[in-house]
Amino acid sequence: MACNFLHLAVAGVRGMSPYQPGKPIDELAREQGLKAEDIVKLASNENPLGPSPVAVKAMVESLSELARYPDGGGFLLKDALSKKLGVNPEQLTLGNGSNDVLVLLAEAFLNPEASAVFSEYAFVVYPLAVKATGAEAIVVPSVNYGHDLDAMASAIKDNTRLVFLANPNNPTGTAFSQQDLKGFLDKVSENVVVVLDEAYFEYAAGGELPDGVELLDRYPNLVVTRTFSKAYGLAGARVGYAVSNPEIADILNRLRQPFNLNLPAQFGALAALNDDDYLTESITLNQQGMVQLEKGFAELGLDWIPSSGNFITVNLAQEAMPIYQALLSHGVIVRPVGNYGLPQHLRVSIGLPEENRRCLAALSQILGQK
Ligand SMILES: *Cc1c(COP(=O)(O)O)cnc(C)c1O
Repeated sequence: MACNFLHLAVAGVRGMSPYQPGKPIDELAREQGLKAEDIVKLASNENPLGPSPVAVKAMVESLSELARYPDGGGFLLKDALSKKLGVNPEQLTLGNGSNDVLVLLAEAFLNPEASAVFSEYAFVVYPLAVKATGAEAIVVPSVNYGHDLDAMASAIKDNTRLVFLANPNNPTGTAFSQQDLKGFLDKVSENVVVVLDEAYFEYAAGGELPDGVELLDRYPNLVVTRTFSKAYGLAGARVGYAVSNPEIADILNRLRQPFNLNLPAQFGALAALNDDDYLTESITLNQQGMVQLEKGFAELGLDWIPSSGNFITVNLAQEAMPIYQALLSHGVIVRPVGNYGLPQHLRVSIGLPEENRRCLAALSQILGQK
């Protein structure tokens, strides 16, 4: 039967392409006849430590309550987060991953008459969320792969309702300073909501990156998003949140699904939040792995974009797709970023030392053959 439902879909959706996730381990295992345990996946910025055992225990224990709806208000998790962050629970919006919160922000503030600003090479969820609403996406050229905050401030139009900033940005790993962020926020009207996506915040905490939450009092139009998917190791549980002024949180809470955060996820996140040892280990492992990969790339004569995240984007100075395919046949999954306009780069998530070593060894073999 010949169908054409695409023309029935709303205009914004017709202009979207599906999100391309990292290749799943089981899929590659089937395709290449490899054993899943022999495959190294460094493709989705997941925590190579696996989940915190404390979080797993809490999630398993919660399963006996699965016949009940979860707490739609997320009381316990909001209470713990508010204490940790020094904010009021009314300032929090919980999401099914921070992706959920990013989409809620777009739905709440955008329509076909509005526009949103983000950077070239910015996280792909921003264009997806914006396009779904029919709003105009204003993409500002980057400088050295990073956000050009001055140009972004200038790109704001009368109908601009949202700006998305990723600090650090995925897939480039680039970051801007507290001073630059403040300079930007000082220029932007309070009628424009600025979303500061801090998905990798924990990796740089106490370091060079600004802490968006500290700026909320001064900038009522600022919304900070964070996640349990990266340093807290719970990507599969889907927990993220926004911190904002209570009025914006109220708007987002009207729009979200009443039970958008499932029951095991709430308990897992609560436990993970208190597992300081796991977080410290994640950060240390990430720092060491970053050094290991940088050293390896340097030995292969490759350039990379300096990264503040848990991944590093390497410049192959040639078409990256054939190298990506060759890495797959070695059982190594990384992430092509041609869809971001970076056809010569590959993004490599920081893995365990042995995983990083296998990635570098495969890359060395492949490049050596050329
Ligand atoms: C990984 C990532 C997220 C988080 O996604 P979740 O939905 O919380 O898993 C958000 N923003 C950026 C820039 C990311 O890289």
